[in-house]
Amino acid sequence: MKITDIQTIEVMGHGYSTYVRVYTDSGITGTGECIHGRSASSAIIGEMKHLLIGENPMNVDRLFEKVRRAYLFDGALAGNVISALTGIEIALWDLVGKALDVPVYQLLGGKFRDKIRLYSDCGSSRNDPESCAEKAKSVVQMGFNAIKFDIDDSQCPHKLDPWNWSVTPGEVQCMVDKVAAVREAVGSDIDIAIDMHGRYDTPAAIRITQAMEPYNLMWVEEPVPPENIDAMREVKNSTSTPICTGENLFLRYGFRDLIEKQAVDIIMPDIPKCCGLSEGRKIANMAEVYYIPFAPHNVCGPLGTMASCHVCASIPNFLVLEWHWLEREHWDELVITRKPIIENGYISLLDEPGLGLEINPDAIVKYMKPGCKLFD
Ligand SMILES: [Mg+2]
Repeated sequence: MKITDIQTIEVMGHGYSTYVRVYTDSGITGTGECIHGRSASSAIIGEMKHLLIGENPMNVDRLFEKVRRAYLFDGALAGNVISALTGIEIALWDLVGKALDVPVYQLLGGKFRDKIRLYSDCGSSRNDPESCAEKAKSVVQMGFNAIKFDIDDSQCPHKLDPWNWSVTPGEVQCMVDKVAAVREAVGSDIDIAIDMHGRYDTPAAIRITQAMEPYNLMWVEEPVPPENIDAMREVKNSTSTPICTGENLFLRYGFRDLIEKQAVDIIMPDIPKCCGLSEGRKIANMAEVYYIPFAPHNVCGPLGTMASCHVCASIPNFLVLEWHWLEREHWDELVITRKPIIENGYISLLDEPGLGLEINPDAIVKYMKPGCKLFD
């Protein structure tokens, strides 16, 4: 079997995702989704294609490495090149699963669990404590037992300087009021995470994470920017609130220092952005050696989310996977599979070959970026 073509479509979801389809001379195709590469992903995949045409698609890791090494001087350490490559890698796994008539998790070593626990992102940086509490209650009523709120607020009236990354006592109190209201609304048995989006300096991050200690959070996410591992470790070592980071790191190499220095309590690679399925599993395995749980970041549609689910099934140290489509109603519409895809805050693994679901062409046409063309 040989690869004959690779095509892309940009589809509206949380911004635009890039859907990638790999074609072969046997007629079997595989489809993947990658995200956060913006419109660069389609262009980069178009350029990468010549490295893959004529290759046997069954050698997924070798093909990933072939392209990555070809791009070493063109940004293959992190960023758009890796995000684009990730879309191809996920499509290849789908294709290999179909060729062998097995679900992808089987190719990753089998499954530890049959269903994947999700947390729902609830947004809400600028909402008052009462509306945060209302939203939390409504999401828990949908069946989720874990939720996440944003607490960084550039418009907070207590903020004195929009450019520095410090925090005033009034800002800290606003954050505490929101988290206290959410905890009060959902009770003690629901996991709550909060996201600071890497927008604070080290002393601010320490003050905020310490102020969150009474609320028994699942984690605080990116309290400081992600690239300074020692600063992250300083925050982690200053508070009993668990610290989570990783959505802006790429490949095993990007996670090595973070894990080896134990600068974080929980890691959250974004699998359809920063690594793909094989590399994502390797990152999880590295973290496992240091007793670090794996809680992937994810804003993809159902295709990319299901790809992440196959990795989450195949590792012991999985904690929870993000779902970020609360305000987007076309989630179930985008793919053809058993509906609803999410039941009581969990996604059950599919036993169909490959990723287990197919895109719905009618929905793709409806939500694709103007100027895109449906797959052949
Ligand atoms: Mg985040």
